[in-house]
Amino acid sequence: MLCCFALSLVACATVPHTGRKQLNFVSDKQLNSIGAKAYSEILKREPVSENKTLNETVKRVADRIGKVADETDKPGFEWDVRLIDQDIPNAFCLPGGKIIVYKGILPYAKTEAGLAAIIGHEVAHAVARHGAERLSQQMALQGVGAVGSEIFKSTDGKLDEKTRAIIGALGFGATIGVILPYSRTHEFEADRIGQTYMASAGYEPEEAVKLWSRMSAIKKPPIPPWLSTHPADQDRVNKLIESSPDAQKKYQEVRDKIGLGVQLDVLMDQSDRQ
Ligand SMILES: [Zn+2]
Repeated sequence: MLCCFALSLVACATVPHTGRKQLNFVSDKQLNSIGAKAYSEILKREPVSENKTLNETVKRVADRIGKVADETDKPGFEWDVRLIDQDIPNAFCLPGGKIIVYKGILPYAKTEAGLAAIIGHEVAHAVARHGAERLSQQMALQGVGAVGSEIFKSTDGKLDEKTRAIIGALGFGATIGVILPYSRTHEFEADRIGQTYMASAGYEPEEAVKLWSRMSAIKKPPIPPWLSTHPADQDRVNKLIESSPDAQKKYQEVRDKIGLGVQLDVLMDQSDRQ
């Protein structure tokens, strides 16, 4: 907040759902173009899954969440999603709405609704411009400079310090070896918005509580990359329990129209047998 006052109102934005004022002097255009470049870069490097059933499920969840986000918050994103065929527990939504889900996170999600909790949370970070806010905070600390428009221009894998800082700030860095956890403010915010999204998309919001309870129980290494950027503890589980009644109301309004999601572990078992 102090930064907001110091840097005048032109650098302030308001987060949807929570109304929190945030520092942001990075334009959506700049950031979305970085997101699109990162997306194509990742798809060049990583194997996209060819499993039809899993792809359909991941796409269905992302479509439903994106539709709700469009209806409620109009982020102006061009949504897309890919399932990466790697046993890495990770998922993120790039600025501009490009979503990456690694197959390795599906056992943690357990159900389609659990995956909706993960994707809802990631989409919430993007819609709430948490990456832009972190970047703006870093730029404010370092003196305002140009955003890394050169980012991902070269594909030789060499990343200078500034570019690494940007990647870390944008929250998908674990893929590229830069891990910068989201702040607790951002995590609580993404939980609350994400739970609203999943409920409005027809997924039982209680699954978010279960997901984060499972995640917060993981104490021993190796800690999944997704957990490194989104630290889990009992506080966030408690806050999700607090926001559950509101999410339940939204879920009850739509669930008869959409129906319940499928069990992911059943799908994965089937795909393993194929
Ligand atoms: Zn998070």
